[in-house]
Amino acid sequence: MAKLETTLIHRGDHFNTTNAVVSPIYQTSTYLADADLSSYIHAAASPKYPEFYHRHGNPTSSQVAEIIAGLEKTEDALVLATGMAAISTAILAIVQQGDHIVAQQAHYSGTTLFLKEFLSQYGVQITHIDQTDNSAFVDAIQPNTKLIYVETPSNPNLDVTDLAFVATLGRERGIWTMADNTFASPINQTPADFGIDVIIHSATKYLGGHSDLTAGVVCGTKEYIERVWRRSLVLGCSLSPFDSWLLLRGLKTLALRVRQINTNALALAQWLESHPLIEKVAYAGLPSHPQWTLIQKQMRGFTGMLCVEIKGKDGNEAYHRAQQLLNNLKIFTNAASLGGVESLIVHPASMWGSHHTEEQKKLSGLSGGMLRLSVGIEHVDDLIADVEQALAQLT
Ligand SMILES: *Cc1c(COP(=O)(O)O)cnc(C)c1O
Repeated sequence: MAKLETTLIHRGDHFNTTNAVVSPIYQTSTYLADADLSSYIHAAASPKYPEFYHRHGNPTSSQVAEIIAGLEKTEDALVLATGMAAISTAILAIVQQGDHIVAQQAHYSGTTLFLKEFLSQYGVQITHIDQTDNSAFVDAIQPNTKLIYVETPSNPNLDVTDLAFVATLGRERGIWTMADNTFASPINQTPADFGIDVIIHSATKYLGGHSDLTAGVVCGTKEYIERVWRRSLVLGCSLSPFDSWLLLRGLKTLALRVRQINTNALALAQWLESHPLIEKVAYAGLPSHPQWTLIQKQMRGFTGMLCVEIKGKDGNEAYHRAQQLLNNLKIFTNAASLGGVESLIVHPASMWGSHHTEEQKKLSGLSGGMLRLSVGIEHVDDLIADVEQALAQLT
């Protein structure tokens, strides 16, 4: 199989049946029936058929799915409207009433809501455990456990889950394993290498990479992806033709962007770690990360995501300093989301403060002085200078 950089540019080229070098946008909801009615009946009944009706499939989405399946080393993939559409349909294709899921304490906030507030209403039980403790996964398993759901590195603390351990545990007990690989991107981590069954992405982030679309991807075996497709067909979460096309375009530079982002983020993390106003830096690329040995085993690069904890004489001062720093920054923009070419920053305690309970905040490690940075591809000297001037103004 072609190397990753070539996969990004050329895999799935056969979906472009025109002479245009760049795949066209198939901006249509429906497709002409063939004169031969039996082939039209076949189109209607075939999973993911790219030219029947948009909710069934679209040539660009098929092309994108083939590229991402190549990156994630799975048989097949399905592209959907958002990361949450990918997560919810992927889980609904596995569990039913009476089943049990083992999940982490800290997940993307939408995932936590889906597990805790949605699935629990439909008779699915969830046990949330500390992802850094392998024995907690073993202890949480019940006779009706159907799925182990992990996210690594996780949002926002950048804690890491031992993918090889979880995958082996799942295989031994006949339990599905699923990993949200959004933060790492396939450039830095390939969960299938360790035996994880299903890989999820919010393609809104690194895969799209330009903060101009929302999309999600589910990767797995052909048989499983067909099950996910059947769910997506009735839940109606297909990705629009234009957003598919933007995603295809964004993917071409994924390797270049992520490598530059890795380099920038490491330099910034190292600089921040030695700053007197910074209490702590959580970054997968720093040997001070408590799980550094595991990280070196399962990640090839360390992403653009880092968390800093601002010093303060108490929680209140740290909270206000974090907000002040946010306002002082000129290049880092205060906006939700991550993984784009531009550097973004958020203050999780104020952003999620209202819809997380105190207990939830404690469990996911949210503290008042914490800021989450998504490092982009601007020049690293400018990024460091921006943070330096913002820190210098703190009172
Ligand atoms: C953003 C994000 C999601 C949700 O993706 P959407 O595209 O916003 O629906 C899921 N998981 C992680 C880790 C994310 O960062």
